Amino acid sequence: MEDCIFCKIANKEEKADIVYEDSDILAFKDISPMSSVHLLIIPKKHIVSIDHIEDQDQELIGKMFLVAKKIAKEKGLAQNYKLIINVGKGGGQVVDHLHLHLISKEPGQTITDQ
Ligand code: AMP
Ligand code: ZN
Repeated sequence: MEDCIFCKIANKEEKADIVYEDSDILAFKDISPMSSVHLLIIPKKHIVSIDHIEDQDQELIGKMFLVAKKIAKEKGLAQNYKLIINVGKGGGQVVDHLHLHLISKEPGQTITDQ
């Protein structure tokens, strides 16, 4: 979708630090990280938010979580991360392209250690 920053990243029209990519999903580093590990996992398809998903998106949404698990495992973060989806303005969503935040710290450091 035009003027959507995450569509532009998915289309390689905007730079991002990409950590995972397949035909449907992209994961990249958050530009303004809340923690030492802060990734965003997005569908390449433009979906505004969880409020906008449809029955046909079921497999795609499931895949986003499987990718989150895969990345966490690869980075040694299993059992030590948070997955967050903000929904709508009231829910703290700023970018209107569905994204899953994967937030953690380096292996060995618990996310709750500040
Ligand atoms: P949310 O509040 O759930 O909509 O989160 C949007 C997230 O996108 C924020 O954590 C931003 O720091 C992040 N963000 C915005 N623009 C970019 C960008 N160009 N590249 C990477 N992350 C971004
Ligand atoms: Zn988009």
